[in-house]
Amino acid sequence: MRIRVGHLYPEYLNIYADRGNIAVLARRAALRGHELEVTGISVDEEVRPGEQDLLYIGGGQDREQALIAPDLVSKGPGIAAAVADGAAVLAVCGGYQLLGRGYLGRHGDSMPGVGLFPHETVAGERRMIGDVLLECELEPGERRTIAGFENHAGRTRLDPGAVPLGLVVAGFGNDGDSGYEGVRVGRALGTYLHGPLLPRNPWLADWLLSQALAHATGGEPPELEPLPDRLEAEAHRVSAQRARDRGGRF
Ligand code: GLN
Repeated sequence: MRIRVGHLYPEYLNIYADRGNIAVLARRAALRGHELEVTGISVDEEVRPGEQDLLYIGGGQDREQALIAPDLVSKGPGIAAAVADGAAVLAVCGGYQLLGRGYLGRHGDSMPGVGLFPHETVAGERRMIGDVLLECELEPGERRTIAGFENHAGRTRLDPGAVPLGLVVAGFGNDGDSGYEGVRVGRALGTYLHGPLLPRNPWLADWLLSQALAHATGGEPPELEPLPDRLEAEAHRVSAQRARDRGGRF
């Protein structure tokens, strides 16, 4: 199968090598005989529902976020329609913030958001930096961990009843005190975790690929053939241990 990925603002939002996530998706798709076709979607280009199986947006500094925020808002209806049509989304840090209702940046810039995710973000004084470990359950009964790295000034508050991506075992997460990290709306995931995220959490890469394949085929998310993942498991273990060594949540 061909899996079509729309990469939003690759030249603006790529802090901590967030585009490494795309490399992981491409390789893991290829090892199962699928081809990832990646299209950059930048300023003045439209998101059209049905054209992408997965949308990806990375993180950035407040400056880059402020540059693209108004354009991203104009893509909002296209993004919402794509998600309603069953496309998967992975949004990291700055991109995660701007897919919510908005972000009030460190220097007082008020950036409008797309409103896909039920949250708002306001920057605080102290940056929240370090290794993070989460526990999550994207499929009922399948508990998994996600390990990563966060560096953000924004505190993201989820609306009551919103579903976080995971619960913080170690690290700050969305706001440093709710114990929540990220958000999930159907097949759309948002998270603060960089690093990039997917090389050390291969199960999450496969979950996204399988959701994207479901969109591509119009069927159910397929079971993907397992891969050896020895190095990936080791990367996950080291990263999770570093987070645990921070000692406690805050
Ligand atoms: N500029 C945002 C913040 O500081 C996002 C940072 C990021 O993408 N790492 O909260």
